[in-house]
Amino acid sequence: MGLRGKLLFSLVALLGVLGLASTLILRSSVLASYQQIELEASQDDMARLVQTLEAELLQLNQVTREWGNWTELYNYLANRNRDFRNENLSPTNLALSGVWYLAIYDLAGHTVEAHSLNPRTSQPVDLGQLAQSDNPIRAILGQQPEASPDNCGLARVAQGLLMLCRLPILDSEGKLPSRGVIVMGRLLDPPALQRIANQTRLQFELLSAPTQTKPPPTGEPRTLFSPLGYGPVGYLQGEDRYELHWTLRDLAGRPCGELLLPWPRSIMTRGREVLVQAQWQLTLLTLLGAFGMLLVIDRVLLVRLKRLSNELDDIRAGQDWAKRTSDSSADEIGGVAQHTNELLTVIAAQMLELEQRAQTDPLTGLANRRAFDQRLLHEIRLQRRKGQPLALVMLDVDFFKRYNDAYGHQAGDAALRVVARCMSGQAKRPGDLPVRLGGEEFAILLADTNLAAACDIAERVRLALLAEALPHKQSDVAEVLSISLGVAMLQSDDTPESLYARADTALYAAKHAGRNQVVSKATETD
Ligand code: GH3
Ligand code: MG
Ligand code: MG
Repeated sequence: MGLRGKLLFSLVALLGVLGLASTLILRSSVLASYQQIELEASQDDMARLVQTLEAELLQLNQVTREWGNWTELYNYLANRNRDFRNENLSPTNLALSGVWYLAIYDLAGHTVEAHSLNPRTSQPVDLGQLAQSDNPIRAILGQQPEASPDNCGLARVAQGLLMLCRLPILDSEGKLPSRGVIVMGRLLDPPALQRIANQTRLQFELLSAPTQTKPPPTGEPRTLFSPLGYGPVGYLQGEDRYELHWTLRDLAGRPCGELLLPWPRSIMTRGREVLVQAQWQLTLLTLLGAFGMLLVIDRVLLVRLKRLSNELDDIRAGQDWAKRTSDSSADEIGGVAQHTNELLTVIAAQMLELEQRAQTDPLTGLANRRAFDQRLLHEIRLQRRKGQPLALVMLDVDFFKRYNDAYGHQAGDAALRVVARCMSGQAKRPGDLPVRLGGEEFAILLADTNLAAACDIAERVRLALLAEALPHKQSDVAEVLSISLGVAMLQSDDTPESLYARADTALYAAKHAGRNQVVSKATETD
């Protein structure tokens, strides 16, 4: 896998883990917050509903107070005036006050009046169970009430839940002692419940039996205190709604029903939607981030590394050690490129030295056979293209075996170096190449040189060696060391081999003719 693939894989893995972790964190924190908000809001709603019911009770208390502080009613308890009764305690008049139940007790707790009717229809209804002696509510109703909100409360009757308020019967001034108790009741019938639902905009229900509930999923349950009851708000939890339950208690403190408030979990639904949106945005941001990082890494790192690698490939493939890498930035990659260039400089210098060594004869310092072969091929092509002459001079030391034998191998080597020096001294134009072909055989390649000039140079080399006057007692041709030379000129149909062979033939001819001389063989027929 390349760097790009590895980086892509690592980035995707890293960002994936980060994304997953942040999603989980987001999930737990956001959903927990939404649930908290939801629980607060739902319990607020239940409290608001209870308050609204309480306000209904207060209103009934107000009506009861108006009757209880009425001097004419106060007097009625003393005089039992029929006119008063007919006029004020008639069903029509009671219906006007909106009450379902009205009872008056004397100080001993005996019933003086008890009326029950449906104020919507003015028809009588049977609430007789309230007056039954085994009903603990009946006992409470007849007692003198304290002047406290507890004088109001609930009672269960066959028709449903009845709100009841009881107050002492006083004169209008409230200065005279009480003569009895007045009790008024209003039934929480469906129209009344609907009105409260409209007012609170809460669709609640009244249940007759208590339900088994649990505390809220988190946090402390809220406890509500009211004349309607007291106790914690209980929960039943569904996927998309809560059910809040609160127990209602009657005047005797007994459970008499339950408020049920279904509460759609729209906040949580919204929370989940927000979370999904956030997750998408997070995913998108993560992908954009990964893409951006890859782009930056690609531009800053990968593209440059790739270029550097390609440049090095080119240099290696072309063995072109003079080339350099191009990244000159002042960062780490630029540093690697810089070091690479320094290494290339070292390689180039060593290659040059190797090249030179490979083309040089170590004994004489002249070019060697290898350099000669390359140069001969090159010069033949060049001179032929230019239409210029090319001469090849071959040299061989005369009776050199005898020289060695007579003066020793080391003296022989020294003599060969003298021969080389003589050649270099005479062939020193840029196009001239003196060569040691091997042993005591030499050659001079002379570019742009005609036969006469080549013979002249050959002759001068011969004379230069004679002038060195290296004694050679065993030579048959001179007192000193001498050479024989053959000169050949490049012909139009020559190969390197044919030119070489002709120069060799000329040398052989020089040897044959008595050595220590120059023989030329410009053409095949010479
Ligand atoms: P001719 O005149 O016919 O050329 O006779 P020659 O003795 O020169 O020819 P031959 O080919 O018989 O002998 C060449 C000798 O050169 C043989 C060898 O000892 C000597 N020689 C070859 N290379 C070297 C070298 O590197 N150093 C020394 N000292 N002698 C060498
Ligand atoms: Mg020889
Ligand atoms: Mg020889």
